[in-house]
Amino acid sequence: MTTHKGSCHCGAVTFEISGNVEKGVRCDCSLCKRKGAIMVLMEKDQFTLTSGEDNLSLYEWNSQVAKHYFCKLCGIYTHHKRRRDDGMGFNVGCVDDFNMEILGEIGLVSGSKLSIIDEA
Ligand SMILES: [Zn+2]
Repeated sequence: MTTHKGSCHCGAVTFEISGNVEKGVRCDCSLCKRKGAIMVLMEKDQFTLTSGEDNLSLYEWNSQVAKHYFCKLCGIYTHHKRRRDDGMGFNVGCVDDFNMEILGEIGLVSGSKLSIIDEA
């Protein structure tokens, strides 16, 4: 089993991913399009936070179901818990020694089409 190590920019938050990393996606929701990160989606049990829990901040918006985590020191998005309970995603740019070329073509997730609560 392949293991990838990742970290935020300042190194306070570190994590490990088990399994192969193959398909990168972008999402066009109002949050992700601002972040601009390429994400890899996976199952929750493939992700292990290895340090920095105290430095993680959580951002929730709209339906509050997805949990978006970022380092409170350097501001880098590291991972998120998806709407589906057992789903996670992480920022592929955080992974050490990761060759972006193996991702091939980056997919697009239409997050903007997911249910949005009308706050009017
Ligand atoms: Zn950091």
